[in-house]
Parts: sequence; structure tokens; C-alpha cells
Amino acid sequence: MMDFPVELFRGADTPFYYYNLELLRQTLSCIKSSIPASNFKVHYAMKANANPVILEQINDAGLGIDAVSGGEIKAAISAGFDPQKIVFAGVGKTDAEIIYGINTGISAFNVESLPELEVISEIATSLNKTANVAIRVNPNIDAHTHHYITTGLAENKFGINLEQLDSVIEKCNALTGVELIGLHFHIGSQITDNTPFAVLCERINSLQNELEAKGVRLKTINVGGGLGIDYDNPDENPIPDFKSYFEVFSKNLNLRPGQELHFELGRSIVAQCGSLITKVLYVKKGTTKQFAIVDAGMTDLIRPALYQAYHKIDNLSSNGVLEKYDVVGPICESSDVFQEDAVLPQVRRGDLLALRSAGAYGEIMASQYNLRRLPGSIAK
Ligand SMILES: *Cc1c(COP(=O)(O)O)cnc(C)c1O
Repeated sequence: MMDFPVELFRGADTPFYYYNLELLRQTLSCIKSSIPASNFKVHYAMKANANPVILEQINDAGLGIDAVSGGEIKAAISAGFDPQKIVFAGVGKTDAEIIYGINTGISAFNVESLPELEVISEIATSLNKTANVAIRVNPNIDAHTHHYITTGLAENKFGINLEQLDSVIEKCNALTGVELIGLHFHIGSQITDNTPFAVLCERINSLQNELEAKGVRLKTINVGGGLGIDYDNPDENPIPDFKSYFEVFSKNLNLRPGQELHFELGRSIVAQCGSLITKVLYVKKGTTKQFAIVDAGMTDLIRPALYQAYHKIDNLSSNGVLEKYDVVGPICESSDVFQEDAVLPQVRRGDLLALRSAGAYGEIMASQYNLRRLPGSIAK
């Protein structure tokens, strides 16, 4: 089991997130050493976790930022990121967010629809600027992941369909306030088999050939994020296989001379360094089941309730005999269950449990439903 600094946890208000910064640094240095060429650039998808302590490490490692709101751009700037390393994505950018992005001097907007492109051009023109845009293309690839986190299929609110791409590119050329710099793709999340990424490379190759024949030259290709992590075995596989992942692209993608390849990794960077630490309030014995009722709920970590996600649970306070528990939260919703039939060393009131692999889409998705306090965090 990962070493938890339990002495630091004494007296802390539970539930809280614990971030293992050493593991985060190792993950970041693994990314650096796995990158096969200097034209491969990684932007961290900040929506996975925007804790300032995490952002500081990521900025120190030299990564850029993939932001999906004005708030995220602002958080990136305050964390010290260079605006030139920030890209802005999202299907519903507001006028205020577009103005803010342009004035801040971010490197590019990932555009997801024709009307959005027109608005960005109009706003940029009114500010006497030109906005760099990358068109998000929907490559119609099934990433074989949960349907809530599949984003690359044809009927999807994200991106522009292949059939409409030509007209959107023509529009880019006609509009005065935008300059087309690249294409953007993102096929889904928690992808643990590299095949969909290889399929994506093939799609991009044929697309580039077609566009080149029409005289379209692109500075960047952005393949999004989506690399998965091992939720079942966080101790055996604390760092994803970045080397094989990057190799899929260096082997299969035909980049043009001088072209940059951008990645937007979220989960694979921060998931394993985070755990939600919660205290057991009650052990309740039913007729066929026993419940460990903990002080964290779906308001602190919504992934199990939202995506039927699995988080491994460790008991940090017990070496007792193994027993089965349904680990449940205090929220008034039947979906507020972290795990059914979790096998744990005997659980007593007051024990600390760690819900593992919770660094991505954990703390950032916390809510105050039931008027609960938001979880704090401890990083070491
Ligand atoms: C969510 C998202 C990412 C990050 O996805 P991960 O699975 O966390 O790597 C990257 N790009 C876009 C456009 C996204 O929406």
C-alpha cells in the first residue's frame, strides 16, 4: 500500500483530499522523459484538478494548460502559467470568456461550432486583434469507454462533424478576426487500450492529406487527452505508461515538418497522486450485509454515483481480519455508495479510510449539496 503520512492526518477535519506530491513529481518527470520529440507538447487539462498546490508542480514541470472556462484561465495565470501556453476549449464559451481569453493573450481557442467561430472573429475584430483558432473535429471513433465520457462519436455536442469541416475552414479564411492554426481532437476519457489512439492517428493522416491537397497547412495537431489509469491496482501501477502512449503517435501519425503535436492530459497526470481520506462514523450490521458509514459522500467524490466508477479503498487504521462492507456516505441519495462488498481489514468507528486514485475529477467536482462543507486538502 502507498505510504500515507497518517501522523499528518491527526486532528485534520475529515473528509479531505491527500495529495502525494512526490508521486506527482515522479509522474511529471516520467512524462518529460517519455516524450520522444521536442515538437510534442503537453497541456494539462485543468478541469481534472485545479488545486493550486497541484498547479504549482505542473507549472514547475513546464507543461501548458488546457482550460475550459474563464475561471480556469484565471487560475492558470495566478498559478504563474505563461498565457502563450494556455489553450481554451469548450462548447459554450461566453462572450466575456472570449474577451478575457483574447485580452490575456492565450495561444489558441479550440472552436467547437460555426456560430462560436463567428463570435470569436467578431469579438477579436472589435478588439483589433486576431485570435488563433484550432477546429475541434469529431472523428467518429468509439473509444470503448463509459458512454458519459465518450466524446468522439458522430452525434455528440462536442466538435464539428467531418462533413462540415470544409465549410468551417472556408469560413475561417473568410473571417478577419481569426487565424486557423490547427485541428483538435478528443475521443474520450479513461482509455486503457491504445488502439483507439492508433485509429485516431489514421483518421488524422487521411484528413491532413485531403486538406493539404486543398492548400490548407496546419501549425498544430492537437490529439486531446484520455489516457486511462489503473483504478484497480494503484500501488502496482502508480504511473501510466506514457512511453507506449506517446509511441503510438510517433509511430502512426505523419506530422509535417515543423508541425507541433499537442496533448491535453488530465486524469493520467493527477489521478493516482490523490486520495480522499474519510473517517468511519458507524458500522451498521444488517441481516445479510454490514455497512461502513463514512463521513465523506458523493458531494466529496461523485465519480462512483455519476459513472459507476470504482475507487479502491484502503483502511489506514486497521490490520484486522478481512470482512465485507458496503462503504456508504451520509447523503440522502441511494446512489451515495462508494463500494458494495468492499473487503477491508475489520472496520471500527473512527478508522480512516483512503479512497484511492481520486486526484482527477474528485476535489474539483465537490459540491455543497445537503449544505455540506467542501473537502479540504493536505499535500505532502
Ligand atoms: C476532459 C478533456 C481532456 C482531458 O481528458 P483526460 O481524460 O482527463 O485526459 C482533454 N481535452 C478535452 C477537450 C477535454 O474535454
